[in-house]
Amino acid sequence: MQTALVTGITGQDGGYLAERMIADGWAVHGLVRAGEDLADVQRRSPEAVLHGGELTDDDALARVLAESDADEVYHLAGISSVALSWKEPVLTADVNALGTARLLELTWQHQERRGRPVHFLQASSAEIFGSAAAAPQDEQTPVRPTSPYGAAKAFAHHLVGVYRERGMFAVSLLLYNHESDRRPESFVTRKITQAAARIALGLQDELVLGNLDVRRDWGWAPDYVDAMMRALRHTHPDDYVIATGRAHSVADFVAAAFTRAGVPDWRSHVRVDEEFFRPADAGLQVGNPGKAQRELGWTPRVPFEELVGRMVDADLAQLRVRRAPDPS
Ligand code: NDP
Repeated sequence: MQTALVTGITGQDGGYLAERMIADGWAVHGLVRAGEDLADVQRRSPEAVLHGGELTDDDALARVLAESDADEVYHLAGISSVALSWKEPVLTADVNALGTARLLELTWQHQERRGRPVHFLQASSAEIFGSAAAAPQDEQTPVRPTSPYGAAKAFAHHLVGVYRERGMFAVSLLLYNHESDRRPESFVTRKITQAAARIALGLQDELVLGNLDVRRDWGWAPDYVDAMMRALRHTHPDDYVIATGRAHSVADFVAAAFTRAGVPDWRSHVRVDEEFFRPADAGLQVGNPGKAQRELGWTPRVPFEELVGRMVDADLAQLRVRRAPDPS
C-alpha cells in the first residue's frame, strides 16, 4: 500500500487531503502538534495514523519520517495567518521557514537511507509576491514579500528549488486563497459567512471589517487539494500557481454571502473600522493558473458565488442545529 505523510492534518487542507487519499486507498500518516489532544484528532480522522510532533523539533520529525516511511510528503503545516505573522514574526520564521528546512533535509536523509524516492510538496503562497507590480501573477513573477508570513514562505519556496536541483522530487505550489466551511473564524471569509448567517437568524446585527476594496483570488479548498495530488504525481517536479484567475473584492464576498443568507442591503449591516486595515496588504492578488492547467490538467471546479454559498449554507445549518431544542 502506498503511504503519504501529511503535516498539518488538523488544518483545513490537511483534513480534505487525508480524507481524499484514504478514500483512494492510501495509508495516511499525520503530524499533529504537541498541544493537540491526539485522541480527539483520532476521533475526527479514525483511519489516519497520527504522530505527535512540532515543526521546530528535529527529533520528532526524523521519527515521524522513519515510522511512516512515506512515499509522498505533503507539507501543509505552519502558521497560515498573515495577521498572526505580524504579531509573531520570530515564531513564523521558525515554523514556516526553518520548519520547512528541517523537514526537507530530514526527508532527503530518509530518502537516501531507504534507497527509493520520496516526493515532497510545499504549500507555498501568493503572499511571496507581496504587492506585485503586474496582475495576474505567474511562476515568473518576482518574489517580493511584504509580511513576515510572506518572507518565511519565500525562504521555504526557494529552498524547495534548491533541493529539487539537488535531485529531489520537490514541488512548490503557489497557492492563492482557498476557502471552505473548515476555515477558522479568524479569517475574513469565514467571519463574513458566519456573520451573514447570524444576521439572517437574528443573532447579530453588525459586521465590522477592514478594507472592503482589497481584491483576492478565492477558490474552493478541495479543488486545491486535488492540485496538490496531481503535482506530486506528475512526470517531473516543478512550481505551479494554483488559483482561479479571477479576483473579487471583500465587498463582493460580503454581497454574495448576504444574498445567499437572504439578508437584503448588506451595507446597512457592515461597519468599516481602520483598526482592521493592514497597510502592507496587497490591494490585488490574482493568479494565472495556466501552467497548472496545461501540465497537470487541473482546473478549479467551484466558482466564486458557489463557494461563498456553500460556506453560508454550512454556517446556517450549524447555527440551526445549535438553536434547536434539546430533544431530551
Ligand atoms: P490551517 O491553518 O487550517 O492549518 C495549519 C496546520 O498547521 C494545522 O494543522 C496546525 O495545527 C499546523 N501547525 C501549525 N503550527 C505547527 C507547528 N509548529 N508544528 C506542527 N504543525 C503546526 O491552514 P490551511 O489548511 O488553510 O493551509 C495549509 C497550508 O497552505 C499552510 O501552510 C498555509 O500557509 C498554506 N496556504 C494556505 C492558503 C489558504 O488560503 N488556505 C493560501 C496559501 C497558502 P493546529 O491545528 O494544531 O493549529
